[in-house]
Amino acid sequence: MSYIPVIGLETHLQLKTVSKIFCGCSTTFGAPPNSQVCPVCLGFPGTLPVLNRQALTFGIRVALALGCGIQPRIVFHRKNYFYPDLPKDFQISQYDLPLGTDGFVEIGKRRIRIGRAHLEEDAGKLLHSAGYSLVDFNRTGVALLEIVTEPDLTSPEEAHLYLKTLRGILEYLEVSDCDMEKGSLRCDTNISLRPAGSAADSLGTKVEIKNLNSFKAVARSLAYEIQRQAQVLDEGGKIQQETRLWDDAAGRTEPMRSKEYAHDYRYFPEPDLVPFAVSPEEVEKVRGNLPELPPQRARRLIEQYGLSEMDARTLTASKGTADYFESCMKAAPASAKTLANWIAGELSSQTNARNLESVAGLPFPPGHLVELVGLIESGKISGKMAKEIFAEALSSGQSPGSIVYSKGLSQVTDPSVLQTAAQEVLKEHPQAAADYRTGKGQALMFLVGQLMRRTQGAASPAISQEILRKLLNDKEKRG
Ligand code: ADP
Ligand code: ZN
Ligand code: MG
Repeated sequence: MSYIPVIGLETHLQLKTVSKIFCGCSTTFGAPPNSQVCPVCLGFPGTLPVLNRQALTFGIRVALALGCGIQPRIVFHRKNYFYPDLPKDFQISQYDLPLGTDGFVEIGKRRIRIGRAHLEEDAGKLLHSAGYSLVDFNRTGVALLEIVTEPDLTSPEEAHLYLKTLRGILEYLEVSDCDMEKGSLRCDTNISLRPAGSAADSLGTKVEIKNLNSFKAVARSLAYEIQRQAQVLDEGGKIQQETRLWDDAAGRTEPMRSKEYAHDYRYFPEPDLVPFAVSPEEVEKVRGNLPELPPQRARRLIEQYGLSEMDARTLTASKGTADYFESCMKAAPASAKTLANWIAGELSSQTNARNLESVAGLPFPPGHLVELVGLIESGKISGKMAKEIFAEALSSGQSPGSIVYSKGLSQVTDPSVLQTAAQEVLKEHPQAAADYRTGKGQALMFLVGQLMRRTQGAASPAISQEILRKLLNDKEKRG
């Protein structure tokens, strides 16, 4: 039978506050284990949490950027469960009144609905060794914002694109490092299948997948799970509602635990944090401070530099890439289209190959690209030479201009040099010259090719063509 995947994502974003969400402990990454703890985040009896205002502001900022409405009354709940990385035996989170509700993220022309975005505290970190486990509480109590989609995604590729788009937006907001490897951006996925042709709102039993350490793992685990669930259903089986772990090395999901339900957590309002109101003025103030976000920036780039919709979207998907493009334009107003092509083409493929977040991470600063494009546009080097020079500049760190200079690589554009070579080419290929004169236009391209060969590819094709055409036409008039 054929099925349609139904996917919803829960993303945990670590907020870049200086101190933790309910105490004054530092949040610096990489400190010695258990050096950033206090009685509050260790859950000692009698201690009281105090909400970090910056965490609230950051949360509102993200929620607004995602088009969410802001809850007028801020309420926290206790989510009760036991785990060794949770010294209080409960996590302070939000439950029925999340900070943000009903937003969306646009991917292409589709809107992925954001059901909720809520504040909560992080748990500690377990380090497992043979025969024992250690726990580091430095992360306990760090501020998180959980962003939950409705089950609107329909393929692993779409889930991947959603995450990339979401991370793009979050980068612009500067509220988090958004680094999946350091754990400041974490994602769990939920997936079920429904028979093709069934009503869009008839949802099957879902499985939650955890332990996803990269965007690639998100897409791979979903693809695996689609296969697995389809097989279970085809064999007449039932999907167990459960949480599964992704094993990246083995490329499969394994059962972790049967699914817990909300009532298992005994949610109740946190008695140590009084509910309070966020005034509309406060919300509007945060809205007023929102930066230009990817969709607006794409629109501006189209207007300001005449970029195509496609180029503008590609460039603005990551803040680093859009900033790189604009620094190039500021350094020297080269052709926006040529710059965009290079950034979306050669530079992006090198960025992906090196697993970097944006082209800004390449050892090829904007000044180098401006120089390279300048060399192409002035006819000093051909497009083919430019690719070689780019590769060389990346590995050596030298600027394109100095590579051209030191290797004597530049394209031959001097008309007097090319004129002599062109006359020789015409002498050697009288048939092609005759063909051109009888109206066979492609004979000219053959002659240009011969001229290029004669100069070992150094002749500028555009100028060669011009000179050959002129010679052929002059002879025609004279003859
Ligand atoms: P839970 O109570 O298990 O936490 P939620 O309703 O809060 O479930 O949803 C958690 C995530 O799972 C959301 O991203 C939601 O879109 C997604 N989800 C809910 N139901 C399904 C389903 N049947 N198939 C796929 N994803 C689902
Ligand atoms: Zn603390
Ligand atoms: Mg839930």
